Amino acid sequence: MSLKTKFSLLLVAIFVLFMGAFWGFTQYWVAGINNDWATRLTEKQVLFDKHRTLHPLLREIALAKQMAAEPALLDMALHESDPAVRQRGIALMESYRNKFSSHLYSAVFSQTQHYYLNDEKNAFAGAQLRYTLSPKNPVDAWFYATLASGNDYALNVSMENHGATKVAQVWINVLLKHEGKAVGIVGTGLALDEFLLDSVAMEQAGVTNLFVDSNLAIQLNRDSKMIDLASIAKPDAQRLKVNALFTQETDMASLRAATQRLIKGESSNEMLRVSYRGKPHLLGVAYIPALDWFDLTLIDAQQGVLFAKLWWVAGLFGVLFLSVLALVAWMLHRWLLNPMAILKNAMHELELNHYTSLPPLVGSAEIKSLSQQFNVMAEHIRTHQQELENKVQERTSLLTATLESLPDLWFELSLDGGYRQMPATYKHGMAVDPTLMVGKSVAEVLPAGAAKIVLSGLAEAHLTGRSTGKQFYLDLSDGRFWFELSIARKQVLAGQEPRFIALSRDITERKNAEEKIRQLAFYDALTGVPNRRLLDERLGYAMLEGKRSGHYGALMFLDLDKFKPLNDLHGHEMGDLMLIEVARRLQSCVREVDTVARFGGDEFVVVLGALSGDMAQSETDAGSIAEKIRSALAEPYFLQAQQGAEVVHHSAGSIGVTLFQGQIIKADDLLKRADMAMYQAKQAGRNRVCFQR
Ligand code: GH3
Ligand code: MG
Repeated sequence: MSLKTKFSLLLVAIFVLFMGAFWGFTQYWVAGINNDWATRLTEKQVLFDKHRTLHPLLREIALAKQMAAEPALLDMALHESDPAVRQRGIALMESYRNKFSSHLYSAVFSQTQHYYLNDEKNAFAGAQLRYTLSPKNPVDAWFYATLASGNDYALNVSMENHGATKVAQVWINVLLKHEGKAVGIVGTGLALDEFLLDSVAMEQAGVTNLFVDSNLAIQLNRDSKMIDLASIAKPDAQRLKVNALFTQETDMASLRAATQRLIKGESSNEMLRVSYRGKPHLLGVAYIPALDWFDLTLIDAQQGVLFAKLWWVAGLFGVLFLSVLALVAWMLHRWLLNPMAILKNAMHELELNHYTSLPPLVGSAEIKSLSQQFNVMAEHIRTHQQELENKVQERTSLLTATLESLPDLWFELSLDGGYRQMPATYKHGMAVDPTLMVGKSVAEVLPAGAAKIVLSGLAEAHLTGRSTGKQFYLDLSDGRFWFELSIARKQVLAGQEPRFIALSRDITERKNAEEKIRQLAFYDALTGVPNRRLLDERLGYAMLEGKRSGHYGALMFLDLDKFKPLNDLHGHEMGDLMLIEVARRLQSCVREVDTVARFGGDEFVVVLGALSGDMAQSETDAGSIAEKIRSALAEPYFLQAQQGAEVVHHSAGSIGVTLFQGQIIKADDLLKRADMAMYQAKQAGRNRVCFQR
């Protein structure tokens, strides 16, 4: 991965991490602030609601309590039938009517269960006794329930018929007590609508206020349909409770727990998070001991949010941060990556041996000093490389000179005889111009026989490491040349094909000398035909061959007749010329495979091999060849000495013949037998053929 990619990834990672952390932190921080803010807001709201609602009620309750404590009223409760007492009682209630904010009072006395009432319009002046309550009438149930509750006072919300319309009324009922015993209930009533206008109906955006009693039955609510009317007189199951508002069971459970804590005085108000009308709300709960009610204040959670939309802050910050990162990336590129790329290219150039000029200095500060250092290094490499090249050239030319001055031909060959390397200059003995040989093989360049020998030498060197002494000849324009091969296996790197160094030494002179020695050892110096030693070998071979084939061979022993006088008369030179001519005539009379040898002096031996399997036939064949020889030798000899002397000489030869088949008798004995036959021919008058069996 390139540095550029790494840096890019690093910057992206920093951006993502930082933005993630920033977002997470602000979310956490803002949520904390929002929560704190909403809690405080709700706390204040619930206290505000509590006091706002409580204040008018408490005033009316205090007034009602004061009225209940009036002796005139207590007197009336006990002695209602006394007109004077009743008069005073009614007068007192009338005086309180003007004090109550609604200018309405009511009073019920337990003894008579008479219900007294007068309202703001003074509609019942003189007829304040309205009717008598009855425990059987459900409308009157509130009275009996309040008495039974034992509380000093109670609030009750009921629906009243005002002409055709029904009006909800909040009643404050205070128990009238005599010696600790309830003797009646007095109080006042407030029209719910008006009361609500001052408390729960007061409109505040996002704020909902309601009051519930200790059973969580709704007592006051802006929506009058959601009020549990005549709550006090109802069995618990029929009451309209807050669970109509809070549908989540967990919300109800926490609300119940909160009301318990408030009643016990563990806290002055409680903050809950509830779901109300499908939206998250903060619920502030405060206890009003005077009423045994709870004030519930619901605030839309969104309302209590200080920072609702943080997106634009995050976006703005993101753009700023991105700009900073882009600047960092640009500076990285300018200060670091770009100079490094230029340096990298320069190094690449150097690698490709482009030493022509040094790269320009790049970057600044540390990068510049790196670039300078690089140039110093490049210069050093350049000089060093030059020195090495010079040294290599020097050594190569020395090595080439050494190789060129090798007296032998040398080649580098592959196992299959392919030429891989050879001296650049043409040397004598090279079959082809060396420049044309590389890529060819010995089989293409050399004659078949020579190529075969080179290949066998390669095979041997491949097996054993070296091969020496293999010889071959080439017939070149200036004669036959002999070569001796020395082949060694070259060390190569693992996995490379085997290579061989072959030295080809010109041994023509040695070969010629050997041939001369051989000639001297096995041939007669004067006539050039095999001498006695070679005769022995050839005869032995012919006998062996005869044994193998079963054919007869013949051995002829010849001695020139009256040779000595030629020497004596014309000198040895003439005698020698005569001997040379005899040898030539003998060779012309026999086959190539037959042997004509000079035995010594004027004696010659002829060996005829492979005549016939039949003895008589062989004898006939040998006889006819002997006769042919005899007549050839009897021809006149025209001898011409070097000094120009000429002699015509007449002579002949005596020939003894014997047959042989295999090795039944020894060669020496065979020669003796032929010699004897020749002697017989001499005895019989010379110039004839005699057989000896
Ligand atoms: P004969 O018929 O009995 O064989 O009589 P001849 O004269 O041939 O006598 P003989 O074979 O006994 O003698 C051979 C002579 O050959 C003796 C010797 O002087 C001569 N001679 C031997 N070697 C050479 C040689 O290399 N050159 C010459 N010129 N003469 C030789
Ligand atoms: Mg003789």
